[in-house]
Amino acid sequence: MDPMKNCIFCQIVNNKRPARIVYEDEDVVAFHDINPQAPIHILIIPRKHIPQISAMQPEDQLLLGKIIFTGKNLAEQLNIADHGFRMVFNNGRYAGQQIFHIHLHLLGGRPMSWPPG
Ligand code: 5GP
Ligand code: ZN
Repeated sequence: MDPMKNCIFCQIVNNKRPARIVYEDEDVVAFHDINPQAPIHILIIPRKHIPQISAMQPEDQLLLGKIIFTGKNLAEQLNIADHGFRMVFNNGRYAGQQIFHIHLHLLGGRPMSWPPG
């Protein structure tokens, strides 16, 4: 099955759906969340369609590391690194995952509480 047909993040990867892209390379794409939960709310995704963290395979380890490193670089570029920021992967129903194409949330620009809701 071609995941691009019904995966909206594959559609963003393939320029079939608009997004405010802030970074892309051969492995990853990063863009503004359409419904931001903080002054800065970026999603960093692999071009490869992996549905969720619990579907990761051993060969995906470097790719997911690159996603985190890309988020770290973007936090610096978007000036949220000094005050601190949050990175989140929601996995599955109880975590509230809505889009089943792995994405790292990068949130910053305001103080955040813990534990999350
Ligand atoms: P999840 O709950 O799956 O971890 O997060 C999905 C995120 O994707 C949500 O924060 C939601 O606002 C965002 N989102 C959903 N649809 C779109 C879209 O079409 N474009 C963008 N840029 N973000 C989206
Ligand atoms: Zn996808």
